[in-house]
Amino acid sequence: MAKEFVKDVTAMDEDFAQWYTDVVTKADLIDYSSVRGSMIIRPYGFALWDNIKNELDRRIKETGHENVYMPLFIPESLLQKEKDHVEGFAPEVAWVTQGGSEELTERLVVRPTSEVLFCEHYKNIIHSYRDLPKLYNQWANVVRWEKTTRPFLRTLEFLWQEGHTAHATDEEAMEETIKMLNVYASICEEILAIPVVKGQKTEKEKFAGAKATFTIESLMHDGKALQSGTSHHFGTGFAEAFGIQYTDQEGKLQYVHQTSWGFTTRIIGALIMVHGDDRGLVIPPKAAPIQVMIVPIAQHKEGVLDFAYNLKNTLSRIARVDIDASDKKPGWKFNEYEMKGIPVRLEIGPKDIENKQVVLVRRDTLEKVVVPIAELEVKLPELLDEIQANLYNKALKHREERTSVALTLPELKETLETKPGFIKAMWCGDLACEEKIKEETTATSRCIPFEQEHLSDQCVCCGKEAKHMVYWAKAY
Ligand SMILES: [Zn+2]
Repeated sequence: MAKEFVKDVTAMDEDFAQWYTDVVTKADLIDYSSVRGSMIIRPYGFALWDNIKNELDRRIKETGHENVYMPLFIPESLLQKEKDHVEGFAPEVAWVTQGGSEELTERLVVRPTSEVLFCEHYKNIIHSYRDLPKLYNQWANVVRWEKTTRPFLRTLEFLWQEGHTAHATDEEAMEETIKMLNVYASICEEILAIPVVKGQKTEKEKFAGAKATFTIESLMHDGKALQSGTSHHFGTGFAEAFGIQYTDQEGKLQYVHQTSWGFTTRIIGALIMVHGDDRGLVIPPKAAPIQVMIVPIAQHKEGVLDFAYNLKNTLSRIARVDIDASDKKPGWKFNEYEMKGIPVRLEIGPKDIENKQVVLVRRDTLEKVVVPIAELEVKLPELLDEIQANLYNKALKHREERTSVALTLPELKETLETKPGFIKAMWCGDLACEEKIKEETTATSRCIPFEQEHLSDQCVCCGKEAKHMVYWAKAY
């Protein structure tokens, strides 16, 4: 059935990458621009980002943070101050070398991230223990000159928030790092219906300049992982490089302990690849720009449109409702709003009005339910909650089915081929083994999960004593 209707979308199981590209464009989330690797986020895509952003911004403020805005440009000398950081980002920064017709005396970097800008500012505003903690966040765009790009997943420019905080002690900084990781997890699980695995990145995969990086990892429909949010504990590394010191209560000079954490438009890519199907997008109600689309049937008949508009006004008090009263055929509208992943379609025609009922069609299961109009204000929110929960449970079930255990390297390799997904395996902690696994399987270590399991005593790669259980996967 699906293929008959939606001729333009490649089937997921046929070519997942093409399916993804078809969905982002046909669902009208983005358009391509004339700059390679850059995308235009269309109103529907931006409304989706706005919802995610508003939910996250509220939580960021509720946890005591303030929004600020840092400049777009970073002087080369400033970026050079922290050695690991500059090495990590140098390969993908965009340079400004000229202003108007004049060559600049110092090259500028278009921010790939803003650690150094915050550090420079913190050095100027933090002097005493009374100035701590500093809990700042900014919503901004950043630029990373990526070689291969895909809409939302990897683009030259993307939108995000980056939190940057400074604390008196290491413990406080650590508490902050985990607190914000949990905020990201709550956005993913409660709003986007995406289950996540929380854990720590290995030394190899951690952020350039961080003491420790924590991550939430999610699993896409095709069995590849996607890093969905990261939170970094910097220790005093940046503070020492930038001279950010405060006088403690005993009058001694101390370095501040810092964190940073980021959440990006990449998550929209995850949303598409976790919930989407052969008909297009499926958006969880809590994230959906439009939760209910009213499609009038036989709208030329007297009273139908008036009734539909009245219904829209009533329901707008309890949900985000829109109506398509254009002269396009209902069948076209059904396909269009299925493609856009709108959680519920509400059909109302002359017969329904006569019978004092409407037809609700769920996007997640395509099930039809007839609901008396008198019960709509109760039944509709219930249905939206049910869809939200169903999408989360479905994604969790998929992740569980696609999570395997491997005890040897050949087993890890074979499982990745036959059942792509998360592979749990023991690891000795050596970089050499991590690199060998990547080389032979193309899977990377996704995280050392907080919830550890003891699968065996031996490293999956070298057979020596294992230190951690690690989630491995091919990743976006
Ligand atoms: Zn090993």
